[in-house]
Amino acid sequence: MTASAMLSVEAALEFLLSRARPLTETESVHLLNAGQRVLAGELRARLDVPPANNSAMDGYAVRSAEVHADAWLPVSQRIAAGDAPGPLAEGTVARIFTGAPIPAGADAVIMQEQAHADGERVRFSAVAKTGQNIRLAGEDIARDGVVLPAGAQLGPAQLGLAASVGEAYLDVLRPLRVAVLFTGDELAEPGETLTAGKIYNSNRYWLRGLLEALGCQVRDLGIIPDSLAATRLALADAAATSDVVLTCGGVSVGEEDHVKHAVEREGQLDLWKIAIKPGKPLAFGRIAHADFIGLPGNPVSGYVTFLLLIAPFIRARQGRAARASWPVSCLAAAFDWPRKDPQRTEFVRVRKASRDGQTVLELFPKQGAGVLTSMAWADGLARIPANHTVKAGEQIDYLPFDELLS
Ligand code: AMP
Ligand code: MG
Repeated sequence: MTASAMLSVEAALEFLLSRARPLTETESVHLLNAGQRVLAGELRARLDVPPANNSAMDGYAVRSAEVHADAWLPVSQRIAAGDAPGPLAEGTVARIFTGAPIPAGADAVIMQEQAHADGERVRFSAVAKTGQNIRLAGEDIARDGVVLPAGAQLGPAQLGLAASVGEAYLDVLRPLRVAVLFTGDELAEPGETLTAGKIYNSNRYWLRGLLEALGCQVRDLGIIPDSLAATRLALADAAATSDVVLTCGGVSVGEEDHVKHAVEREGQLDLWKIAIKPGKPLAFGRIAHADFIGLPGNPVSGYVTFLLLIAPFIRARQGRAARASWPVSCLAAAFDWPRKDPQRTEFVRVRKASRDGQTVLELFPKQGAGVLTSMAWADGLARIPANHTVKAGEQIDYLPFDELLS
């Protein structure tokens, strides 16, 4: 692939995924510290969950054949959650509570609302069906069954599931180390006084947020000056300690854009123009052992490019299950889009709204590549293919932000 080719956004995704070498180094991490980490191998259950038949109700464990409406039966034992009961004596019932093990011999639980207790005996207003109100051993997870597949990212549900099968430590892949750098002599940090000609470094904040949401270990190298020498130095340093080096800005062909030249000197540049709007200048390459990604400087361009192309790359690089396409659904546009871009697929900022009982997509009125307000307002992107217009009411492709990141 030549560095100057303009790639379709689909081809760019395919290319990036083909270059994503999944991490292989593993470590054993306690469950309490394993949030967001990626499981190295599949996790199998060493026991049934629940481990024993237990009661789904507060009530009485019975032999169903012995229960006749309004006949008295003696209560021979009391079983609370955590007890290990002996067998149920014939002709008797056991007082039992939710989560308590079912005694051998009992085959049903009658809930306490259908029981009338009088001292050590009880009668029931209903008969019992075999199995009723009993949670069976292995109902959630059977012993030796796969609990979680290799490559699963450990969110709250996954951690709870691993705990339920008794695993204290999990073999996970080490975190992906991502260095971030921001180019531009115009940049100041929030908190500093803004002098003439300067703007605040907004990219730093959404980019770190996205990387952290993906579970990356971020090394933030801050703002680097707009000079070839400084850019080369910073990139070489970043590459020495990271798996992926991400820069923002300075990636086009302007006189003050030094990233492209710096990468070409320090490593190799594979790709730098994508038929996508916003976000045409995107660089991908290598510096020493690290992957290099150069995001466009315009905040919306960078953010959209990250969601569409870089998040899937990072996911694959982390060793997570690869996703070769975007989560797309179809919804009606509540807007006209009369301008067509002859070459580039456009991803416009939209949000779902309800109109006359129908879910439609509203368009943020300002679609400029620097208008970060659009990202905070929107809940997703609508895809408009190159050379297409949209009329209100037409079904269009919708890509929700939360699914692009999940
Ligand atoms: P560049 O790609 O360096 O030409 O930058 C394109 C546009 O994005 C310019 O208007 C920059 O001022 C702006 N920009 C670059 N980096 C950042 C940043 N970190 N935060 C906010 N805006 C930026
Ligand atoms: Mg710049």
